[in-house]
Amino acid sequence: VLDVQGVHKRFDEHPVLRGIDLTVGRHEVVVLIGASGSGKSTLLKTINLLEQVDDGRILLHGADGAAEDITDPRADADRVRARIGVVFQHYNLFPHMNVLDNVTLAARKVFRTSRAEAERTGLALLERIGLGDKAKEYPDRLSGGQQQRVAIARAIATDPELLLLDEITSALDPQLVGEVLDLVRELKAAGSTIVMATHEMSFARRVADRVVYLKDGVIIESGPPQQIFERPERAETAAFLQRLR
Ligand code: ATP
Ligand code: MG
Repeated sequence: VLDVQGVHKRFDEHPVLRGIDLTVGRHEVVVLIGASGSGKSTLLKTINLLEQVDDGRILLHGADGAAEDITDPRADADRVRARIGVVFQHYNLFPHMNVLDNVTLAARKVFRTSRAEAERTGLALLERIGLGDKAKEYPDRLSGGQQQRVAIARAIATDPELLLLDEITSALDPQLVGEVLDLVRELKAAGSTIVMATHEMSFARRVADRVVYLKDGVIIESGPPQQIFERPERAETAAFLQRLR
């Protein structure tokens, strides 16, 4: 689905991504871990074209197998973003729109789906995540966990090929984290392709197909959770995990 090749990104003179290579296959769940400032969010932003890469390129493979270089300046950013769903830590929902309008906005505006059809799909999605009765509520009337679940529903409403999740539980009260992570687990079971950054190591261990440890803008080690968490090959990975205990 996704091919990140030799990506470099600097802010001013400060290098933040230093040659990232990452391939994500269809239905794969890749979890990015690493200290604060290691470049996880920046990497996700380059994939979503919120940040431009300085060097390297990013290919997105369509369902038909055709690859598009989305870092090519001629790429249509709106179309690329429509193929990639994104949820951030907070401020995901439009406060002046009710839940259903939030969820259906992209379908109506980018894909020109009729309101009736978008609402049918949107309501079914809200039912699926247990928030069907909140369709007409405004975001500020929902709990943080419910808001993040709606944000996820909005991100998947247009059936994106790839879902990027950046610390989607880190602003939540601990008792609300579980319901959001359960939803991610359901998406995985349903076959979504996901790249997520998280500090929730126990979740990474249970849900990731592959864990990628990032340090100072470099991928130090990447492998199945058993490898990373139980017998890391690199001393830096072990040291990072040790510090979290
Ligand atoms: P966290 O775990 O805290 O979310 P992270 O791994 O997501 O950290 P990034 O947000 O990618 O880290 O930041 C990596 C580095 O890039 C940091 O040193 C940060 O200060 C810097 N940085 C990020 N965005 C910008 C920006 N827009 N302008 C300047 N520097 C930035
Ligand atoms: Mg971050």
